[in-house]
Amino acid sequence: MLYDSSNIFARILREEIACDKVFENDHVLAFKDISPQAPQHILIIPKGDYCNFHDFHENAPALLINEFYRTIRLVIQQCHLEKNGYRLITNCGVDSGQIVDHYHVHLLGGKNLGSLIVS
Ligand code: 5GP
Repeated sequence: MLYDSSNIFARILREEIACDKVFENDHVLAFKDISPQAPQHILIIPKGDYCNFHDFHENAPALLINEFYRTIRLVIQQCHLEKNGYRLITNCGVDSGQIVDHYHVHLLGGKNLGSLIVS
């Protein structure tokens, strides 16, 4: 799959579209989901042209991969989600229902999320 730079998260990275920013550094941006599915629902994205999990792990430099997951942990701490827990989700491809083709991880928390639903 070729990366399409017109996707909504690429536009957020280019600041063409506003977002409710939670954290940013040179490599990663975290912002609130526009349609939250939990009291805390944050999207964490690498700053790079990666379509999904596979693309990121096949093509991103090891340092960026390391920095990405290190930052997810920082955001979890910043949101005070460690004590009561949280869920990380990444959708990949058509069967997952992935809507935005820029690699992202959903961080959900702030209530008991129940069991994982697969419908
Ligand atoms: P996916 O199904 O691709 O894993 O999830 C994409 C997520 O992006 C959805 O949860 C959706 O609510 C969120 N989203 C879509 N457009 C926007 C937007 O313009 N701003 C923000 N903050 N989130 C968005």
